[in-house]
Amino acid sequence: MKIERAAVIGAGVMGAGIAAHFANAGIPVVLLDIPAKEGDRSAIAKGAVQKMLKTDPAPFMHPKNAKLITTGNLEDDLNLLADVDWIVEAIIENPAIKADLYKRIDPVRKPGSVVSSNTSTIPLNLLVEGQSERFRKDFLITHFFNPPRYMRLLEIVGGTDTRADALAAVADVCDRRLGKGVVHCKDTPGFIANRIGVFWIQTAVNAAVDLGLTVEEADAVGGRPMGIPKTGVFGLMDLVGLDLMPHIAKSMLATLPPNDPYRDSVREHPVIAKMIAEGYTGRKGKGGFYRLNKANGAKVKESVDLRTGEYRPSEKARLDSVSAAGRDLRKLCEHPDKGGRFARRVLAHTLAYAASLVPEIADSIVAVDEGMRLGYNWKQGPFELIDRLGTAWFAELCRSEGLPVPALVETAAGRPFYRVEDGKLQHLTTAGVYDTVVRPDGVLLLSDVKRAAGNKPVWKNGSASLWDIGDGVLCCEFTSKMNAVDGDIMAAYGKAMKLIGDGKGEWKALVIHNEADNFSVGANLGLALFALNIGMWSQIEEMVEAGQRTYRALRYAPFPVVAAPSGMALGGGCEILLHSDHVQAHAETYVGLVEVGVGLIPGWGGCTEMLARYARNPKAPRGPMPPVATAFETISLAKVAKSAAEARDLMFLRATDGITMNRDRLLADAKAKALELAAGYTPPEKDSYVLPGPGGKAALDLFVEGFALQGKVTPHDKVVCSALAEILTGGDADISKPVGEDDLLRLERKAFMELVRTPGTIDRIEHMLTTGKPLRN
Ligand code: NAD
Repeated sequence: MKIERAAVIGAGVMGAGIAAHFANAGIPVVLLDIPAKEGDRSAIAKGAVQKMLKTDPAPFMHPKNAKLITTGNLEDDLNLLADVDWIVEAIIENPAIKADLYKRIDPVRKPGSVVSSNTSTIPLNLLVEGQSERFRKDFLITHFFNPPRYMRLLEIVGGTDTRADALAAVADVCDRRLGKGVVHCKDTPGFIANRIGVFWIQTAVNAAVDLGLTVEEADAVGGRPMGIPKTGVFGLMDLVGLDLMPHIAKSMLATLPPNDPYRDSVREHPVIAKMIAEGYTGRKGKGGFYRLNKANGAKVKESVDLRTGEYRPSEKARLDSVSAAGRDLRKLCEHPDKGGRFARRVLAHTLAYAASLVPEIADSIVAVDEGMRLGYNWKQGPFELIDRLGTAWFAELCRSEGLPVPALVETAAGRPFYRVEDGKLQHLTTAGVYDTVVRPDGVLLLSDVKRAAGNKPVWKNGSASLWDIGDGVLCCEFTSKMNAVDGDIMAAYGKAMKLIGDGKGEWKALVIHNEADNFSVGANLGLALFALNIGMWSQIEEMVEAGQRTYRALRYAPFPVVAAPSGMALGGGCEILLHSDHVQAHAETYVGLVEVGVGLIPGWGGCTEMLARYARNPKAPRGPMPPVATAFETISLAKVAKSAAEARDLMFLRATDGITMNRDRLLADAKAKALELAAGYTPPEKDSYVLPGPGGKAALDLFVEGFALQGKVTPHDKVVCSALAEILTGGDADISKPVGEDDLLRLERKAFMELVRTPGTIDRIEHMLTTGKPLRN
């Protein structure tokens, strides 16, 4: 079956977000809710769309996606459901209300369409009780996480009657078009992630209270050291809402098996109950375990004292266990201080609980680990964490904490849950043998490539590695801190160009990709500051020149270069994209030339290339000034596209560049494109442009002066803007003659070298390096 149109019922937090994400995928979607009591009867759904257009982080990847949503209400517009292939129900978590809705929509929906529920806790077999046979065949659970655009996990559950083709079609759309990590779960309460996640939160809260840890201490031990986001447990509760926990607990207790350990862990903590009652429900309420309080005109971070419920100024946790253990999880658990005791208790209970649930909640440990990674942003899932401790050591830990050793841990009998055999990742099955972890068709992970190569790249230096990703394609991976661009990365490009040569030998193409959170945050500012502090001007100039030379060489190389970014691609990282033949971007790519924030201009060809793109834009008004003005606006305002779709608007991406919704499919898509381009590849021709010259610069200066008079431009902004205007207008160009790329690059270098010597720019760089924020001087 094909899914081309969808509907979402329930325009609350989840329903509206899911509808927006269908729109992000280019799927037209109907959004219905109950009729409003007065005024426009579809006001709930309409209001939800309007609200989302103002929400930050944005549910829409591009505001124009809102047009793909047709809003309505459940009384007047049920007929809209007759045209859709998939209906997602996301109304309140109440089985009777859901059942009633299913009965109403069943007669109107298209034969062969599928219906799924977004329930967090209600098992499928309860949801289909009393429904028609046809309905039961077409029904499944698709559990999105909040917020649906950004959380990668999608748990999918089929019932005993669910059609296999319906399950497969929905899983496929969720994977390829919505970009989700689809995890198949069994029909049990809370499925995988929430079943374990809720138990983990409850266990950690109990342990913090019992062992006398402050919220800061609990989050310091229970976050980063365990590979869990630094919000830990209390910060996470602030994020999702403290009031949600009792609801989930109630719902889980109604359906969990009678002897489930979660039942023993649920406890009401008077301090937390009081916080909820008084509206201290977290970030959405008056505050949570943490809050920013305004006192005497200053913002002070405060934390709740778990013993008294009163706020007090937050204090950085200082625990010997955390500083002594570093990344060594076993050492952390063995430490005698309260941090060590907390780690031991939380890990023993949570990981033993998770291990006891396979095969009850999923067929394999791989699904459980994936669920916790994608649904709770853990760096490693429970079984990967047990491997970090060692299965035999973990069995001992369970015994010492008075817990039964889970059957699966007994089965492991000291062997790890995961191992590498012949370069392939394998996982332990419930039968006690190892099976290879199989990736779906069209998924290529650089981490798998690296494992298969025994972690031996074709070539590497301190900031980059070159990997053989098969079929004659070489992949350049950045490995520097935050993937900052430096001389070693330039050297790696140089090496790649040497290896690939004319593209007719062993290697045909280059792909630039990595699996870090951010593709690249730009040039290494620390190095730049070091050089300029000791006045190494010629070295700085050489760095700028080398960058220009390398990026140009990549652009005009006799083989195709494909960049495959995800996350931030800023400054020098953005310039890599600008010089690639093709960009295959993950939908969640954030792109911008942000150099003005540190008092500089893009000096590695960024100004030149943006100017070229705007000049070639067939939709732009004719004449030398419009492309200059647009490039000036994009660069001087340091505009950052907050999605690949927005990057297309700003022309950081071209119409021909590709967007991949699922991150796991990004490298395979990029490689396929590289091979496609390699067949009969010819490099682009050099271009030249007619630019407005000094007259144009005077116009831009005047424009900036206008903003300066309104107080919107700082004194140093004016200096930087003037330097930028000089480049983009072509310096002292004669308006009748075209300006070549080499002239523009020379102007970039000149402006860069002038700016880098100004105290205003040096202050900006220093400030950015020490605070991580731009200085408005
Ligand atoms: P919500 O309260 O924000 O929205 C629920 C919507 O249902 C509201 O717009 C309401 O008008 C509508 N509604 C109420 N009664 C209705 C009825 N009789 N018929 C039709 N619509 C009705 O809730 P939510 O957080 O969006 O949750 C929706 C579903 O998603 C629930 O099943 C919940 O368990 C699940 N879920 C929630 C989250 C989360 O983090 N909030 C995450 C995953 C799954």
